[in-house]
Amino acid sequence: MREANFYHAAPDGVLQCDLCRHYCRIRPGSSGICRARRNVGGKLFTLAYGKAVAQTADPVEKKPLCHFMPGSITWSLGAPGCNFRCANCQNWQISQMIPDDSIPLNKPEEIVQNAQLAGCQSITCTYTEPTIFAEYALETMMLSRQAGLKNIWVSNGYLSKICLDAIRPWLDAINVDLKSMDDAFYRRMCGARLDPVLDSLRQIHRSGIHLEITTLVIPGHADDPAMLQRLASFIVRDLGAETPWHLTPFWPEISWKMQETPPTSPEMIEKAWEIGRKAGLSYIYAGKAHSDTLCPRCGARLVARNTTPFSDNQIERFDADGRCPACHAPSPIHH
Ligand code: SF4
Repeated sequence: MREANFYHAAPDGVLQCDLCRHYCRIRPGSSGICRARRNVGGKLFTLAYGKAVAQTADPVEKKPLCHFMPGSITWSLGAPGCNFRCANCQNWQISQMIPDDSIPLNKPEEIVQNAQLAGCQSITCTYTEPTIFAEYALETMMLSRQAGLKNIWVSNGYLSKICLDAIRPWLDAINVDLKSMDDAFYRRMCGARLDPVLDSLRQIHRSGIHLEITTLVIPGHADDPAMLQRLASFIVRDLGAETPWHLTPFWPEISWKMQETPPTSPEMIEKAWEIGRKAGLSYIYAGKAHSDTLCPRCGARLVARNTTPFSDNQIERFDADGRCPACHAPSPIHH
């Protein structure tokens, strides 16, 4: 256990955690919604610090990020705990885990060393919600930057402005789940609300951190064409038409509590892709059929990806000088 950084004292021994949009008010001896922050003797402690329950090398496309260092390998890091309770969660074994002393300590310097040994160009805080292990993530990101690596987060977007301000100097890219445009979905499926996610997304966009969005298309829950249309329009209007949008299919067998829900059909993904195009988005990634990066001006290929899903690194780039090879428009790809 280690004292947390992001909290303040409220009356009657209650501590308010300022890390995520739940802003839990935690009584002595109790934990926050994430169960990874506990009020012990009038101080807030993070239980997730140093508890790396998942580490591996991944293609950056698998995060998914398509406009940030394409073809590179990133070192993925996850610690236990989440502020959401998504019934569809694919990493529920670790996201819903309560951190304890049985998990060995992995210091931030060990994480950076592991990334370097694996030949990675970046470290990604992922699998669970990085906000929950923010102190651990921050220390790792600072060392990672010193070592010449980039830093990435994969997040549900429920981080507070205080958390965003703390990570902003160290974070290079982020993929945020925008799960639905219905508040009822967030309340029912995740135990959260929609507006704070939209607010965070606008703040991240303004911060200049490279941003990509992912939507899991869940049959009967997050596949309504009118909802997807509102979601795509929000991205265009508030985040910019150039923001990459990833459409991913739902797989019931790896979900936490939704084994009875059917998998997403390729037709539904295609329909969502068309909705995004009609809304004005320039870059929509959806399975093998829509895995290449095309020049929005002339349609020429900028990056070819021969992989479904983004499980290996068979990519070819045609924008070597930062421009489209056909019409010479600037490429949207970072690095
Ligand atoms: S990180 Fe979020 S869920 Fe966890 S204690 Fe803090 S405010 Fe609550």
